[in-house]
Amino acid sequence: MNEEREEHEERELARCTKCGFCLPTCPTYGVTGAETDSPRGRLELLSRRLGGTLRAREVRSALNECLLCGSCTAACPQGIPTARMVRRAKSREGAGLFGLLVRGVFSHPEFLRVVGRFSRRANGAGKAPGGVAPDRASPIRVAYFPGCSHGFWYPETKVATGNVLVAAGAGVWELSPLCCGLPLWAAGDREGAAALAGRVLTAFRAAGEPTVVTDCASCAATLREYPELLPREPAAVRLAAKVWDLAAFLAETGYESPPGPRIPGPLAVTYHQPCHARQSGEGEATRRLLESLPGVEYREAKGYDACCGGAGLWGLRHAELSGKILARKMAAFAATEAGLVVTSCPACRMQLERGVRRAGLKLAVGSVAGMLVRPKPLWEEPDR
Ligand code: SF4
Ligand code: SF4
Repeated sequence: MNEEREEHEERELARCTKCGFCLPTCPTYGVTGAETDSPRGRLELLSRRLGGTLRAREVRSALNECLLCGSCTAACPQGIPTARMVRRAKSREGAGLFGLLVRGVFSHPEFLRVVGRFSRRANGAGKAPGGVAPDRASPIRVAYFPGCSHGFWYPETKVATGNVLVAAGAGVWELSPLCCGLPLWAAGDREGAAALAGRVLTAFRAAGEPTVVTDCASCAATLREYPELLPREPAAVRLAAKVWDLAAFLAETGYESPPGPRIPGPLAVTYHQPCHARQSGEGEATRRLLESLPGVEYREAKGYDACCGGAGLWGLRHAELSGKILARKMAAFAATEAGLVVTSCPACRMQLERGVRRAGLKLAVGSVAGMLVRPKPLWEEPDR
């Protein structure tokens, strides 16, 4: 790390007053109660590592066990960006074998397509539908960025989102089938994430730098962080300024739910707000959209904006801890007695689906677009 960067990190770390206000917000501390699993403890470990009194292996598990959820920053009077600092530290320490594996999978859309197909088959989902048809005729031109999860795991949602955008009056086409780079970056592979970001930027430039809409809160957050990944690339700043979350875009353009079969409700719906949507503030647009839908009775779950314990691949790597965090969410959803939980992050959706199966709940999990385009009655088979 260069000297300037090191000084910056040390200054950030020195701002921590050890007050502990962040502790109750941290999902890992909430489960284990261990100081090293808390934001304050992680900052202390980072500080000692930077000071040279701890070795890499002594901080590795505390860093890897951070969900990068950002809950602590919102509660911190100093506004210390712990998640970002942990992510930077992971990149400094190196991504290791796990990082290589993540890069190998997520840098290759062809490979993701095959993995997605197998996973859909294993989950009993049918053949994937076609992609979003290019339609650039409308004066509002929108490039849709589905991200790899919608692209390969939930292609029905990808089609539904394309349809919703067209119904909102936009000319829509798919910007790129690439992964935004978040799984690599979170694993500590900043270089691999920057390479993917560069490829997405090439597509953005080639498309004439349009407005970009995504229905994945995590993709939205990552695209907006491209200036940090590619600091010498002016187009990264321009892209970051043109990214919209689906619900926020619909609210901005005055979209109303399309005419057609209504839910003969009331259908009780609850919401899981992804961490990235909480951080951007756009999660509120999704919540307002759900509240406004005819036939929907919105029921807010306790801790609807708390992390689900998925965090992309984190949940697979830390299955026990993840399961305990997820169990709390499931109890909160069960208490609402809703029949459907909607979320705007496909990785959260996978995690919630796991939670529903484990808890044996009668709760469907769906997407925002799935609430707006209803090829089938939602109460029978939401979103698929
Ligand atoms: S709330 Fe902020 S200042 Fe207080 S202990 Fe946590 S990170 Fe440090
Ligand atoms: S980012 Fe999340 S998991 Fe990591 S220290 Fe902060 S609250 Fe805890």
